[in-house]
Amino acid sequence: MTFDYDLFVIGGGSGGVRAARVAAEGGASVALAEESRMGGTCVIRGCVPKKLMVFASTAARQVSEARAYGWDVKDGGFDWKGTFHPMLQAELDRLESIYRTNLDKAGVEIFDSRAVLKDAHTIAFKNGVTKTAKHILVAVGGHPYMPPETEGIELAMSSNDVFHLETLPKSILIVGGGYIACEFACIFNGLGSDVTQIYRGAQILRGFDDEIRGHLAEVIRDRDINLHVGCDVLMMEKDAGGVKVTTTDGNVAVYEKVLMATGRIPNTADMGLEEAGVKLGKRGKIIVDDYSQTSVPSIFAVGDVTDRVALTPVAIREGAAFVETVFNGNPTKVEYDRIPTAVFTQPELGTVGLTEEQAREDHDIEVYSTAFKPMQNAFIGRDERVLFKLIVERKTRQVLGAHMIADGAGELVQMIGIAIKMGATKEDFDRTMAVHPTMSEEIVLMKTPVRVA
Ligand code: FAD
Repeated sequence: MTFDYDLFVIGGGSGGVRAARVAAEGGASVALAEESRMGGTCVIRGCVPKKLMVFASTAARQVSEARAYGWDVKDGGFDWKGTFHPMLQAELDRLESIYRTNLDKAGVEIFDSRAVLKDAHTIAFKNGVTKTAKHILVAVGGHPYMPPETEGIELAMSSNDVFHLETLPKSILIVGGGYIACEFACIFNGLGSDVTQIYRGAQILRGFDDEIRGHLAEVIRDRDINLHVGCDVLMMEKDAGGVKVTTTDGNVAVYEKVLMATGRIPNTADMGLEEAGVKLGKRGKIIVDDYSQTSVPSIFAVGDVTDRVALTPVAIREGAAFVETVFNGNPTKVEYDRIPTAVFTQPELGTVGLTEEQAREDHDIEVYSTAFKPMQNAFIGRDERVLFKLIVERKTRQVLGAHMIADGAGELVQMIGIAIKMGATKEDFDRTMAVHPTMSEEIVLMKTPVRVA
């Protein structure tokens, strides 16, 4: 049987673009369909615009710090509408065009259309045109979940809408306790909005180390984020001042904007997947094996749509591993253990490996932890503390996990992630010379466990 292409990729995000480009560079004939903007969630409505907002929002604290250190600086306003927002949109346009050019250069044929499956080897565009391929890669990502049962949900915005705000809201309610909710709470707080964050669970950042979660919650409260846990939205109503929100704790308040950051779900509805024989799991995720192959041998899936680890570098690795497996005859699995990752709150949270709670389940452990005022804060009378924590397996001495809250923790955890991935022991940490004076030197200076379990 002959096909139009060796590979048809549906979705021009992190995973799809990487797979398409690498396969085409290796000599395969490849096409890719994207229904929205090239680059996907990460580039257009995720990591990149968010991180640029983080940079913008940290400036206010730097100004106040500069003043405390003796600089003669005055507070000025932040110009979202006239300066930052147009710059942000121009940067996204620039990045989108780079993605497009790189695909073009690699020889990938691009279709700016929604594409759905017709059968195991055929996809159909919105206009009814069909194409065939020997292999199909579904890399369609996910979208924000807006709980339909919440009365007035249409008055709230999702994380997709944040990047299109015309003006910066004076007040904002952020609903959710995951990393996206926490990051935006810190961003809007830094930009000068009055921020309330509510989360129905007992503590923000479920799944992260408990001590770290508690520390971060305290720090962001101290930074004037009005954080309430164990509380949810009951209903939302239109109000002259924005949105009137009634919460389960009986509170009624008006916010200029409400951001629902209550999770994301895979983009698998109306894709023809089940009709083509592709098995779906909980919340519509595509079920795949270790090589990203679905229940239909010619159809593979990578990235958020498979709901494994929803991070850009993971989607990229999965895309590359798929090409290695299918086009280079080298079956390749992605390693999902000890993935270093960051939450870009202010201060940042960096984490790699097992949490204390996870480690306790299967290992005898020692916990090393230190919270202290770094000299940068102590000098100007700021009480904010950083936290560094290591989880060590007692028998093997291997460091099973490292967790930290500090400015720059995202950068630090990339480095420490290498040592932990290599299986470094506590003694390897101990014999590494400290870099002085830094905050992170504490990571090689912790001598006595705070707990043994
Ligand atoms: P996506 O990047 O979502 O790409 C899927 C693409 O498919 C989209 O462009 C979509 O338009 C297209 N598409 C969907 N259906 C169709 C169809 N039927 N036909 C054609 N095209 C279709 N990750 C990190 O690692 N670090 C971060 O700091 C980080 N921050 C984030 C912040 C936010 C606010 C969000 C929402 C996500 C963040 N992520 C972050 C997660 C990261 O963006 C995703 O894990 C990553 O983009 C997943 O890539 P993907 O290829 O699976 O899907």
